[in-house]
Amino acid sequence: MDTNRETTSIEPQTQLVESFRKHLAQTSDSPLGLEIVRAEGVWLYDATGKKYLDAISGICVNNLGHRHPEVLAAISRQLDRYIHTMVYGEFVLKPQVELAERLAAILPDTLSVSYFVNSGSEAVEGAMKLARRFTGRKQIISFNNCYHGSTLGALSLSSSSELRSGFNPLLEDVIHLPFNDIGSLRQITSQCACVIVEPIQGEAGVIQATPEFLDALRERCTSSGVLLMFDEVQTGFGRTGKLFAFEHYGVVPDVLVLGKAMASGLPLAAFISSQEIMSCLRDPPLGHITTFGGNPVACAAAIAVLNVMSRPGFLDHVNEMGALLREKLRHDAIREVRGRGLMMAIELESEQLLQQVFRRLLDDGVVADWFLFASESLRVCPPLVISDEVVTELCKTLLASLH
Ligand code: PMP
Repeated sequence: MDTNRETTSIEPQTQLVESFRKHLAQTSDSPLGLEIVRAEGVWLYDATGKKYLDAISGICVNNLGHRHPEVLAAISRQLDRYIHTMVYGEFVLKPQVELAERLAAILPDTLSVSYFVNSGSEAVEGAMKLARRFTGRKQIISFNNCYHGSTLGALSLSSSSELRSGFNPLLEDVIHLPFNDIGSLRQITSQCACVIVEPIQGEAGVIQATPEFLDALRERCTSSGVLLMFDEVQTGFGRTGKLFAFEHYGVVPDVLVLGKAMASGLPLAAFISSQEIMSCLRDPPLGHITTFGGNPVACAAAIAVLNVMSRPGFLDHVNEMGALLREKLRHDAIREVRGRGLMMAIELESEQLLQQVFRRLLDDGVVADWFLFASESLRVCPPLVISDEVVTELCKTLLASLH
């Protein structure tokens, strides 16, 4: 972390950044516009040679850091064999089969069949189709301040009228319930196909489900014949100190949705369920297909991710680094540090302070971020391989930015 604040500006300066604004569709009026030319481990390097600590892992993607050697080796081995041979589901592709086998071995017995896709949104779409097809019901239930993706179907699950505005009508028959409110679960009835929930809500600002709430939700879904889906796109792959967040609770969903960190930066996502449930996707034949889903190079990378994360001590390190962050982040201007493992929200006194902290961190060589639905909270989710020295340095820089 470099403390040379004067030399840094986040305004676009180079020709490339101008072209970025002109020729790439923009998603806001104020993109960060940082030009990163290299990334290694927990570090990003911009075009001027300035080094930044990646304190957000590309939003929970680079959990193993950038360019992890085992991931690079796995990708390289697969590149020497083949990149793409056929659309998903027709040919037997060893990396796909091995990855599905590995996931089935790690996950509870009922989560034994994977459908691989390319993004979290796409996995959510597939999972919703699966639930409708399996139950023959239409209604879908999600929770306030959830985020499940930006495609029309996934966006329908959002309770944010701002995000939805301009894209209506979305899916009919979607109900949003308050998160962690056991009483409202009565609204889950035999009309409903599925309930989708993040065991730890990401964009809401890292809000953990209470164990009682997930227990009650599981029970209600089972008694109403409703599929329970856990969206672990953001919480998955070690982020919360377990391989998957549902392991903190001991509650098993009917469908598990994964993405983001799965292939360490290559596009890969999945929805996973039982043989019984998943088999309904054969009827109608080809009712859910994808060209690139389960790309073999991405699957090879994902196997390497699981290899690294399954080693003894890996998840202990995540928990230790999370505890260190929490211990060091004490300050009058910090209202609350929420989170589990290395998925964290630092709630500050005001939105204005958040803006100030964000900019000062960037000047000081730390890339942090905010959340969609928590306007006073700073997102901190560094690569899980971060060392205690770098955590200590990060906390120092963060505390200094509060003055
Ligand atoms: N679910 C959750 C919990 C997410 O955090 C996200 C992405 N932020 C998605 C789904 C959508 O994933 P993607 O952007 O890969 O479509």
